[in-house]
Amino acid sequence: MSNTSFSSLNLPDALISNLNDLGYNSMTDIQAQALPAILAGKDVIGQAKTGSGKTAAFGLGLLAKLDVKYFRVQTLVLCPTRELADQVAAELRKLARSIHNIKILTLCGGVPIGPQIGSLEHGAHIIVGTPGRVIDHLDKDRLRLDDLTTLVLDEADRMLEMGFQADLDAVIAKAPAARQTLLFSATYPNAIAKLSERLLKDPLQVTVAEQH
Ligand code: ADP
Ligand code: MG
Repeated sequence: MSNTSFSSLNLPDALISNLNDLGYNSMTDIQAQALPAILAGKDVIGQAKTGSGKTAAFGLGLLAKLDVKYFRVQTLVLCPTRELADQVAAELRKLARSIHNIKILTLCGGVPIGPQIGSLEHGAHIIVGTPGRVIDHLDKDRLRLDDLTTLVLDEADRMLEMGFQADLDAVIAKAPAARQTLLFSATYPNAIAKLSERLLKDPLQVTVAEQH
């Protein structure tokens, strides 16, 4: 945990007061190092172990930027599994409690597609999903990314290990080129370095070393 408080950041007051309510008193190391750049609109590669608070690092960035009055998909978060997508969506909903009428929708494989199609017809600001199911909706034009401003690849190393490379490429081909891309990973193998090089523009790379 860093000693830096969230109030040192240029975050909307509603997010700051909600963080106080949640008992998030100071930033974790990855948050302290990544959030200023994320809030400045930069692409960021964040590497830190599990449990270091990576979700709030990208979550506060995307929530600060989101325009809730504009009811279009502005953010897409891709995760390797349904369990992880559900965890990310739960944390985002917690962080977004003070933002009225925000709609966060999960689109994961392994669950019936019918209800997802219905939910997409109603719209969302933020989609959290797994690559295969997201590309399925994109291919059938049930989901469009024309208004996307932020793309997050969470647990990118696991997504590659699970063989999602082609699906990731297909999603990215449908995303606007002018976007902010944030990539989080617990490890940084060569395949992730190559993926980052293709997808991110002039990224800031933040690595939080293990504490011994
Ligand atoms: P990671 O994605 O790095 O594995 P998570 O984003 O899931 O980590 O966060 C781990 C836990 O830490 C979550 O329960 C989250 O609510 C909590 N957490 C995150 N940031 C803070 C903070 N600044 N202060 C207190 N708790 C936090
Ligand atoms: Mg995580």
